[in-house]
Amino acid sequence: VVLAVLASRLRAVGELAEEWAGRPVVVGTAITRGGRLLVQQRHFPARDAGKWELPGGRVEAGESEQDAVIRECKEELGVDVVPGGRVGTDVPLHNGMLLRVHTAELADPEAEPTAVEHRAVHWAPAAELGAFDWLEADRVLVHSLRDLLA
Ligand code: C5P
Repeated sequence: VVLAVLASRLRAVGELAEEWAGRPVVVGTAITRGGRLLVQQRHFPARDAGKWELPGGRVEAGESEQDAVIRECKEELGVDVVPGGRVGTDVPLHNGMLLRVHTAELADPEAEPTAVEHRAVHWAPAAELGAFDWLEADRVLVHSLRDLLA
């Protein structure tokens, strides 16, 4: 029975992987510095205004995920970042895309990210992460982000 359950779970995971494989990716960026994570508050669209998220956006055609991380952080925060590894799982978005988070560090550790397109940016310690009014997909990653800061 245990083996049968395992086999069926594996099949389900395989089917999900197949279904998700072709989805466009939205990269999120977990920028950390001194035990804090950079979070930003959306200004638009109206439905998302006031919600908090990781910086990032859609990977464009012919672009690597790392390149998208670098481009989006420059556009949204006005800073250069150096991407690291992945964190957390892929999270499906309502629009059919997948949110996939990469870690990153500021190329210049003294640089101050600014809210170019957003309402606000904030360096949050692990203990604060649960309290933000996150976008739904980003909220799924809170425990992974806390682990990253630990
Ligand atoms: O930021 P942008 O509008 O390019 O993001 C594309 C889509 O990905 C939007 O639907 C946005 O809500 C979603 N997104 C998200 N979490 C992020 C960044 C984007 O859910 N950290």
